[in-house]
Amino acid sequence: MADIEPFPNKDSIEFKDKFVERYSKLTDFEEWKKYSLAFPRKAIRVNTLKISVEELKKRLEENWVLEQVPWCKEGFWITHKEGRRDIGNLKEHALGYIYVQEASSMIPGKVLFPDAGDKVLDMCAAPGSKTTQMCAYMENKGLVFANDVEGIRLAPLGINIQRMGITNCVLTIMPGQRYAKSGMVFDKILVDAPCSGTGTVNKSPGTLKMWNPAMIKRLAIVQRNLIKTAYDILKPGGIMVYSTCSNEPEEDEGVIDWLLKGTDAKLLDIDLDIKRSDPIVEFEDEKYNPEVRKCLRIWPQDNHTEGFFVTKILKPGKNN
Ligand code: SAM
Repeated sequence: MADIEPFPNKDSIEFKDKFVERYSKLTDFEEWKKYSLAFPRKAIRVNTLKISVEELKKRLEENWVLEQVPWCKEGFWITHKEGRRDIGNLKEHALGYIYVQEASSMIPGKVLFPDAGDKVLDMCAAPGSKTTQMCAYMENKGLVFANDVEGIRLAPLGINIQRMGITNCVLTIMPGQRYAKSGMVFDKILVDAPCSGTGTVNKSPGTLKMWNPAMIKRLAIVQRNLIKTAYDILKPGGIMVYSTCSNEPEEDEGVIDWLLKGTDAKLLDIDLDIKRSDPIVEFEDEKYNPEVRKCLRIWPQDNHTEGFFVTKILKPGKNN
């Protein structure tokens, strides 16, 4: 793994007692701190709708070092030979050849992997890293509904979709739960849920100040509503992916356990070249369905990325 660059102020960052207690039980807290209190590695995804990976590498490799992300062939960690960090200012960015996307955020789109014939819903889509990734896999065919509840986040979503040259995408703005009454059904659905973001402390250390168990419980209610809506409007035989950048069991395995209790959903294995940690099967008073072992849980220290949680879900039906 690449060298880590600790925050200069890492020793003055404070943790709530309950956070330390929780994280010491869930993982190796010292390792977690080492990677969460260090600068994130910048990564890009090549937009194959506009340029091939080889051509893009040729354009950048004089000044930048690109290191392959093992689980996404269009993904690369990127560092400048003389220390430049402003990838967003590159001509290649303005031209829509690349999307600046954290390496672990490339996983959900890769796992869902819609193809040209699919009708897809991206229920919580802004600012569009995963929407644009999926549209590229679909080669601008089929149809993607990219939804978000926040008007202010829809502008960057629209801009990113335009910049990446996407033409198979419709934007909607409403709570994802309202899709329940839309009368539409989908072949594939991504629920990249709003979450506490505890996997992203390396990007937003302020998350630590906002963190509290009551907030996690409130978020889990929203997440349950979103995942259940998505399951209801998934076609039989359809696939959905539920993901968060949180490492809290209530937002991750807890939500999946809840879905398994109330539906006929089946979990599928996730086969990716990535270091993973054991999913949580027991937490506080809860014992989760052992099927949650099929979920992908990664901590920041596993791959020197943000922490992430991804589940691949099948709705049994006529195509199976
Ligand atoms: N998928 C996005 C990407 O890859 O760029 C990131 C999505 S972010 C983790 C979660 C998103 O959920 C936020 O943009 C937030 O505005 C949206 N959101 C929050 N509550 C929602 C709801 N009830 N329905 C739909 N979207 C919601």
